[in-house]
Amino acid sequence: MLRRDIPKLFREALRDVWGRAGDDVSFEVDSTGPTEVLATLSYDRNAAQARGGVLLSTASQHVLSVSDDLLLQDVELIGKVLRHEAIHVGYPEHDENFEKLASETNTASTERAMRGGDYVVERSENTQTFEEVYRTKNRNDALCFAREKRAGPGVYRLDY
Ligand SMILES: [Zn+2]
Repeated sequence: MLRRDIPKLFREALRDVWGRAGDDVSFEVDSTGPTEVLATLSYDRNAAQARGGVLLSTASQHVLSVSDDLLLQDVELIGKVLRHEAIHVGYPEHDENFEKLASETNTASTERAMRGGDYVVERSENTQTFEEVYRTKNRNDALCFAREKRAGPGVYRLDY
């Protein structure tokens, strides 16, 4: 996949996720990408808003950054990543709304899950190094686990 093919695919992803409202979303693709994750979307967080899977308003401009690593992945995974970022136009956080739309549009909230892997809860004593403490196919189970443990010592996070 070439970086110059991404705008067309992201426009399709926006339409897949938001229907015709996706045509109103203005974006540019960054010339360089992130290295830690496959892709990021930045925008004015105050302006993006969706309710019940309906896009109400969006930021005036979004910047999509895709990593060189993403361009090397198969078309299916690239589509999942772009739909994930398209959902972020309306839902900044990986909340229940995000998760619902993600499952309806065949993507997921973590890269591991997009690749067909499990949701993993990690724990840290010092917030520097994290170790896996729980693994599940079900995101809600992972969140419940992390929530229950939060009262105890250590920091818990859902691995991306
Ligand atoms: Zn995300």
